[in-house]
Amino acid sequence: MRIEYLDSQLAMTKFRQRLSYNYYVLAALVLAFSALMLFMVVSLGQDIDKHALEPVYHFEDVQNKQTIDTIDQIESKQWLKNDNQNFGLTKSSQWLKVDLAKTQNNQLLEIDYAMLDSVKVWFRSKKEGISGVTNEQYYIIEHYDLGDSLNFIQRPIIHDKFLVPLPNDAADVQLLLRVQSDGPLKAPLKLWSKQDYVVYTASHRLFMGLFFGYMLAMGLINLFLFITTRSVLFITYAGYVFSFGMLIAAIHGLGYRFIWSESPWLQERTTVVFAFMMMSFVLVFSSQILQLKTSSPNYHRIFRGFSTVYMLCVLASLIVPYAIMIKLLLVLLLFTIPVILIVSISLVLKGSAIAKFFSAAWGVLLLSGLTAAADNFHWINLSIDSSYLLMVGATTETLLLALAIATSYSVQRLETKKAHQDSAQNELLAMQAQDEVIALQKQAQTDLEQEVTARTQEFEKALAGLSQVHDELQGMSQTDKLTGLSNRRFFEEQFVIEAARSRREKQPLAIALLDIDHFKKINDNYGHQCGDDCLIAFANTLKAVIKRPGDLLSRYGGEEFVVLLPNTNVDGAKNVLEQFRSAIENLQVDTQGHPIKFTVSAGVTSRVVTDEQDSEKMVTLADKLLYLAKGAGRNCVVSSQGMSANSQASNKTSGTR
Ligand code: GH3
Ligand code: MG
Ligand code: MG
Repeated sequence: MRIEYLDSQLAMTKFRQRLSYNYYVLAALVLAFSALMLFMVVSLGQDIDKHALEPVYHFEDVQNKQTIDTIDQIESKQWLKNDNQNFGLTKSSQWLKVDLAKTQNNQLLEIDYAMLDSVKVWFRSKKEGISGVTNEQYYIIEHYDLGDSLNFIQRPIIHDKFLVPLPNDAADVQLLLRVQSDGPLKAPLKLWSKQDYVVYTASHRLFMGLFFGYMLAMGLINLFLFITTRSVLFITYAGYVFSFGMLIAAIHGLGYRFIWSESPWLQERTTVVFAFMMMSFVLVFSSQILQLKTSSPNYHRIFRGFSTVYMLCVLASLIVPYAIMIKLLLVLLLFTIPVILIVSISLVLKGSAIAKFFSAAWGVLLLSGLTAAADNFHWINLSIDSSYLLMVGATTETLLLALAIATSYSVQRLETKKAHQDSAQNELLAMQAQDEVIALQKQAQTDLEQEVTARTQEFEKALAGLSQVHDELQGMSQTDKLTGLSNRRFFEEQFVIEAARSRREKQPLAIALLDIDHFKKINDNYGHQCGDDCLIAFANTLKAVIKRPGDLLSRYGGEEFVVLLPNTNVDGAKNVLEQFRSAIENLQVDTQGHPIKFTVSAGVTSRVVTDEQDSEKMVTLADKLLYLAKGAGRNCVVSSQGMSANSQASNKTSGTR
């Protein structure tokens, strides 16, 4: 992707180089084509010049009052010699007078300007045999009425030029013309033999054919290019070429001859309509090709404004008289053309290749246009018809503009390609960035997960430690450290549970309190440590005697112990306690070199618990029974059953020590 990107930049540089070579080649081609057309125009001009009528006398009727009947009253000194019959923009009717020695009917009079509203032609001769009359008397041989204001079909010869046949075989004929028009007024008079005119027409038609063929080709190619590429540049150019071609067709009378011959109304307006239309297209086209919208929005706005004004003028031309519109056109052109030139030259100075072609194109057209205008307004006199010059200028211009379009299209295509590659490049970078972000996110997630796991493990560890500590604490709170038996607190908790069970299940619960006999003496005789050892041995011995898992032996405090025997009646309990007593009686603790022997006394009771106070009463009772056992001489078990009835038996039993 990066390599392609560099490729496109290289292509751009190469393209610019190629463009500068092509520039000279194409410019040479354009020049050659224009030179060919100019050569044709000049040779046509020479041909025409040979047939110019001379001398022509001219009288300007400023008030438009003169008629054929009154014209002879004009003094001969008011008739002035006129060389090229070019009168500029005037409303006055122009009278022209030529004396012809002899006429032939194979001769044609050509008024070489197609845009005349009214042309009246008289061929007349002096009346003979009249003498003594001050003013010369004429009789009319032929009279013709021509002009755009009349239907095309009324012309004596159906031709795009104003042509009039000369009267046959007449001597001393005077040609009198009255021409009048709203637009620029010209009436160059030419006298042709029909053969010469056919020869001239052939080369004239070739020139016109070349021009219109070229215009049509340009118009169609650009129309097709528009259809295929949808680039608006092509359609505005096609619009420009089309309206320019039509304008030239109108100026040369070809439109009236071939297209709108039925309508003098259209003939009066088409010139300005197509001129306005052309300018409107030119402005849109110029703005597009110079890319003013992006490069200089202010110019773009001015161009669009002008273009709109021209388009409105197209519509106005259909209503407002031609004489006004043609003046408006000239005024507008006076503003527009310098603006276009200034803008394009300023862009050339900025180094735009397109603007170079564009400025050259406009320079050529402006030059020919100004020359034509100067000729039309009679500021200069060209030997050839200025409109032909304009055609050469326009051809050169359209060619240069076509080059500008081609350049612009190539530049745009390359720029589009570059933009495309740029965007692909950016997309790639964006994708890479996205990948990086995803990787970072993944990394962060992994890190986080690891962190969480580590913390969780730490936490679990801490929790486990805590739970162990808790268990230990719990154990500590429930266990007697010395003997490893459960302590008094645990016993009391269990006693509540077992009492409730007894009440629920209606089963007897037995409780016994045990107290080692004369333990104080052991401490006193052998020391506290030996006492402790005896307590440990005592506990271990009783643990071994207990069979049922539900039975609970706890240290009650000091050398006193308590036994809880669920589901055990007094007899059963007494039996267990008797086994205890007997096991201790047989126990000898060897500690610190002292064989120590001791005995134990116990009070035992059992009952089905019926209310909550029962358990307290049972402990008190067991304590009393223990007290009785002590009183009965120790090393004996006293049960609640035996308190009254079996106290003897109990005593007997204890008596077995
Ligand atoms: P009696 O037969 O009446 O029970 O006589 P006795 O000496 O056992 O009397 P008493 O119950 O008043 O004395 C208990 C003695 O037990 C007091 C104390 O010195 C001793 N003793 C209590 N707890 C411990 C202990 O944890 N270790 C040791 N070595 N001696 C203890
Ligand atoms: Mg005691
Ligand atoms: Mg004791």
